[in-house]
Amino acid sequence: MSTDEAGRLFHFTRLPRPVVDRAGGVYLWDKSGKRYIDGSSGAVNVNIGHGNRAVIDAMKRQMDRVSFAYTIHFQNEPANELADQLASRLPRGMDRIYFVSGGSEAVEAAIKLARQWAVATAQPTRWKIIGRMPSYHGITIGALEPTGDDVLTRVFEPMSRPMPLIPAPTVHRDHDDLSLEERGLHYADMLEAKILQEGADSVLAFIMEPIGGAATAALVPPDSYFPRIREICDRHGILLIHDEVMTGVGRTGKFLGGDHWTCRPDIVVLSKGLSSGYAPLGAIAASEAIVGPVVAMGGFLHGHTYGGNPVSCAAGVAVLQEVDRLGLIANAATMGEVLKDELAALSRRFPFVGDIRGKGLLVGAEIYADPEARRPLPREAVANVRLIDLAFERGLIIYSRRVRGGPESDNFMVCPPLIVTRAEIGEIIATLGDTLEAFAREFNLPVNH
Ligand code: PMP
Repeated sequence: MSTDEAGRLFHFTRLPRPVVDRAGGVYLWDKSGKRYIDGSSGAVNVNIGHGNRAVIDAMKRQMDRVSFAYTIHFQNEPANELADQLASRLPRGMDRIYFVSGGSEAVEAAIKLARQWAVATAQPTRWKIIGRMPSYHGITIGALEPTGDDVLTRVFEPMSRPMPLIPAPTVHRDHDDLSLEERGLHYADMLEAKILQEGADSVLAFIMEPIGGAATAALVPPDSYFPRIREICDRHGILLIHDEVMTGVGRTGKFLGGDHWTCRPDIVVLSKGLSSGYAPLGAIAASEAIVGPVVAMGGFLHGHTYGGNPVSCAAGVAVLQEVDRLGLIANAATMGEVLKDELAALSRRFPFVGDIRGKGLLVGAEIYADPEARRPLPREAVANVRLIDLAFERGLIIYSRRVRGGPESDNFMVCPPLIVTRAEIGEIIATLGDTLEAFAREFNLPVNH
């Protein structure tokens, strides 16, 4: 047995963590035999659950045939097949696909594709990517630029140019008299104001998560938001990039998060659920109108050694088959409602949990010291870290973050694999109840018994 006793590995998170031993379905086990229920699907990526036989066998078969062939030299069948499969599931016309190895890489590729499209179409002054605060688009230098998270971006700012940001539509925090739909328009109109402020000719694209993920814990914009955003982008000739890294491949009860509305992005970014954690994989999809000029210019000036990796793409093909075979998108929609109802019941017991929201199995909530005033716990309390740890001790994995940018708060997400059953949701909720009981004791928060 090998542990990192020498501390050779370095990480974002605090070590030590237990060494994982095995996993199956919605569970993982560590080396000591302790079992964890995966209420965060890893990094909200293991959509089809752990240990799926069909995917493992498909990857093995591909490895036996060919594990690697460079895309400069060869096409490979899994990449071609996955591109076909994706095109048939994405909004009509989004049928030009480009594969990479992860979410940040896919965001980088989307930004570079947009920029090259602008140059290829004689719009070389366009380069700014407007993002939102808070938001998360990845951790590489380019993906950080439109990411709204000061803590992650500040250190790198001399190298990674911060892009213009508009507030994310955090409607749950608003206290004004406007209806939800009016507030949706209000937040969308901030995009137009920002474009005009920056100078429309300098703006290349607007990037957003259709339903917020890591930074905003399942933030769902009002319906009015999407058509207005599309209208504004069209009026100023700006590309709309949907970062569906977390929301894609069924997570929210539709294939894409954006499919809950009829809005149409210019570029879709996918990763996480696409391979469900079985192999590193990401993708961008765009229409011929975007890709055509770039190809005509001599080709996309981009490429990674592992782009279109045959084993990763074989995993992707098998994952999509399993999503269909097991009816996981419908299950996400149904179980998501069960989960939200259960969380609502928990919040009656623990009134410091509020603003429960989300779609499908991307479900989130806020934690407030004073829910009436929406007053957060103090930042120094690092309550999000404590919540994760208290759950982990009890064998439950959840996702929790301190929201930065605008009014602060701690939030958490419960995002189990899309195979989750009612009984497993019951187990998650029971353990979460125990966790919140301990959390309330530690932070001196009221509980209704
Ligand atoms: N975009 C979004 C919306 C994400 O949620 C993430 C990952 N949390 C990324 C990009 C970056 O993906 P990766 O961690 O695979 O680089």
